[in-house]
Amino acid sequence: MIVKNIEEALNEQINAEFWSAYFYLSMAMQCADKGLPGAENWFRVQFKEEQEHAEKFINYLLSRGGRVVLQPIAKVKNSWNSLLEMFEDTLKHEQHVTDLINKIYAMALDEKDFATQSMLNWFVDEQVEEEEEARDIIDALKLIGDGYGLYQYDRELATRVFVPLATK
Ligand code: MG
Repeated sequence: MIVKNIEEALNEQINAEFWSAYFYLSMAMQCADKGLPGAENWFRVQFKEEQEHAEKFINYLLSRGGRVVLQPIAKVKNSWNSLLEMFEDTLKHEQHVTDLINKIYAMALDEKDFATQSMLNWFVDEQVEEEEEARDIIDALKLIGDGYGLYQYDRELATRVFVPLATK
């Protein structure tokens, strides 16, 4: 069994991951609207990854005999002034998610819940990657500006492929 406060925190995290998915799908839709098919693809991949994160938490909670309670997904932003602004929001959001994961980790330390700590290690590593990737793209976008450079860079973002996690 899993202690109540960890169960609650994991349920909140499931909602946060689905919110993230919805947030990135909203960005993908803005990219589709602005004629940036590569960036649209990038955010659609991100959308799928976030759903996988939610499922990873769901599967873990079930395997510990916890109860999954799905909550409504709050409204997401649906308009950005530029692709740079979208990736700046992406970085800010991922930094926030890192904080959320760290808080659950601290809770698991307090509770001496070693299984939850072990499960969260994957997410700790994943957040380092998420933040690094957003930061790299922000740097590139600042360098190239608008116009032809952006067109070329969009083609690069088109190459991102969704690779499903090996989950049980
Ligand atoms: Mg996530």
